[in-house]
Amino acid sequence: MNDKKIPRVDLPADVRLDTLAVREGLPATPWGENSEALFLTSSFVHPDAATAAARFANEEEAFVYSRFSNPTVMMMERRLAALEGTQACIGTSSGMSAILLTVMALLKAGDHVICSQSVFGSTIKLLGGEFSKFGIETSFVSQTDIGAWQRAMRHNTRLLFAETPTNPLNEVCDIAALAEIAHQGGALLAVDNCFCSPALQQPAKLGADLIIHSGTKYLDGQGRVIAGAVCASEALIEGKFVPVMRSAGMSLSPFNAWVVLKGMETLSVRMQAQSERALRVAGWLEQHPAVERVYYPGLKSHPQHELAMRQQGGSGGAVVAFIVRGQQQGGPELARRNAFHVIDSTRICSITANLGDTKTTITHPSSTSHGRLTEEQRQAAGITQGMIRVAVGLDDVQDLLNDLARGLDSLTA
Ligand SMILES: *Cc1c(COP(=O)(O)O)cnc(C)c1O
Repeated sequence: MNDKKIPRVDLPADVRLDTLAVREGLPATPWGENSEALFLTSSFVHPDAATAAARFANEEEAFVYSRFSNPTVMMMERRLAALEGTQACIGTSSGMSAILLTVMALLKAGDHVICSQSVFGSTIKLLGGEFSKFGIETSFVSQTDIGAWQRAMRHNTRLLFAETPTNPLNEVCDIAALAEIAHQGGALLAVDNCFCSPALQQPAKLGADLIIHSGTKYLDGQGRVIAGAVCASEALIEGKFVPVMRSAGMSLSPFNAWVVLKGMETLSVRMQAQSERALRVAGWLEQHPAVERVYYPGLKSHPQHELAMRQQGGSGGAVVAFIVRGQQQGGPELARRNAFHVIDSTRICSITANLGDTKTTITHPSSTSHGRLTEEQRQAAGITQGMIRVAVGLDDVQDLLNDLARGLDSLTA
């Protein structure tokens, strides 16, 4: 089986992450291109029928059909696996399809999942809604209450699913503690590493078995494509995920893989620069009289500040959430009007719910990303009408402060 392997890039064995981020992938073609090639081809030609048979039987590792094997996609997968510190990775058409593939590959009717109640809204809909139709039951627990995860464990629990930090409140969970709970009960831990990316946080080093990515966010980094990936051991990816991909086809397009591949070359410097700006924005917001509360793991006021600093390489990430004054003075309606005023007074920030872009984005979670929840669910989740989320990009930080001051200053004037 597989005695002929697709070769690796010829690099010294001891190269570090920053080098892997720009070089890991496949060897160049005979043309010697320095920038990775984009292989826009649906299928691959075999020299003869016997070789085709060997490749289809997986006796020889080779490219066959781009639903499940393509050189550009493989370069992206190898690079992301190197950054996450896992043996393998599989690219998917979106972040959501990475989660879809994970559930299809690992679970069956009668299995039980434990998931944080603060994860991405579509993840809650997929696990709690769509998969309940197929007999997979999900319990939702508090992101930060380790005891609640422990108590939710059952004999049929197969998967724990966490996302840290969460959107938009930046709640942080203890990855190592969750990994221990999962493994003691014979389950796997999946961590959605979208907010930090491997440049700041490598969940596999803390015991996570599966790392989920929306490549749409920081991996691309410039808001161009929809993409996703799962990183895990070679046994899981080759044994469980690739066969499902082959049948189900939630494939990453080579073009989108290429954009993400090139995006990863600047991931680490972008994450550092955007996180530094975010820390300055968060500190400035915290002392502004029109701001009631700031949610940012890099601030000492954050309830899991120390855990976040330990887990995220000393960085708070690039997303800041805050609450403008108004709720106490005039209830949710005034709070919402004030939040809209601050958002509409910006002239630089893009009003969009996406994040992970070099362009700073601003959004009102309770009427956009969390608009499908009831007001009670939102209040329970702490996502009030006065909340604004800023995903800090590479704009000049003083320009950003001026942009936010336009609306905030007039609230207190
Ligand atoms: C955006 C996002 C997803 C979904 O990714 P898509 O690429 O939009 O499908 C999943 N998890 C988190 C945390 C996200 O922010």
